[in-house]
Amino acid sequence: MNSTPTYFYHLDDVRGDDSLILFHRGEVLLLDDEFLFSSSVLQQLHDVKHPLLLVGQIAGQRILALNLAPEWEQGSLPVARATPRQLLLQRRFEDFTAIGRANQLVNWHETHRFCGACGAPTHPHENDRALVCSACERPYYPRINPCVIVLVRRGDTCLLARHNRGNASYSSCLAGFMEVGETPEETVRREVWEEVGIEVDNIRYVRSQSWPFPSQLMLGFFADYKSGEIQVDGHEIAEAHWYSRDSLPHTPSAGISVAGQLIELFLQGF
Ligand SMILES: [Zn+2]
Repeated sequence: MNSTPTYFYHLDDVRGDDSLILFHRGEVLLLDDEFLFSSSVLQQLHDVKHPLLLVGQIAGQRILALNLAPEWEQGSLPVARATPRQLLLQRRFEDFTAIGRANQLVNWHETHRFCGACGAPTHPHENDRALVCSACERPYYPRINPCVIVLVRRGDTCLLARHNRGNASYSSCLAGFMEVGETPEETVRREVWEEVGIEVDNIRYVRSQSWPFPSQLMLGFFADYKSGEIQVDGHEIAEAHWYSRDSLPHTPSAGISVAGQLIELFLQGF
């Protein structure tokens, strides 16, 4: 009887037509600028300790993710490296879906090796994409963190903010994590109020995006201005203003993020 879990694979289970996405110390390995490796590369990796994680299947062929141990050395293997964020800027969207999904799974597996309740080691669930505590049997599924991102409109203008974090050189929509017990619409109201001190209504969902840095689900909304004057919190937001269509500041690309897509829809008169 084959007791191999559906979502976790050992070296012996890997087939010749499987493709691999390799991670090492938070970076994706590339060979000739290609991130999908033939499974034959396993013979050159030596001493693989982690299980391989099922990312998905394309036309019956499996894509597996492998997180190499920190002490792994590439030796003569001529690989280059890139962070998932760098790849986001360079790759086609379909490529990025696979890389993003693999990145989330690798992160989840790496951070759930022990049970948060009793501290015992976890092991792969037999049938589910889950890790199970070997002592108290609590299951740990990959976690997704929902966030809202909202474009607030007031007449022919929209509200864009420049964030304090990093070296933000562009302005974008307001965004924030959902809190326990909130609906997405309640998060929109709360975040806009907390970050810029205005009230909104007519909140409507537009589109969503997986944002695997490491595990957000971005829920994109439009909302209409209701009342108040802009008062930035000075903590998360450096500045925020109302912009008309012909005076937009530097904004994120619509090809990459749902924020850019919301702004693009605004420009189209949506
Ligand atoms: Zn436990």
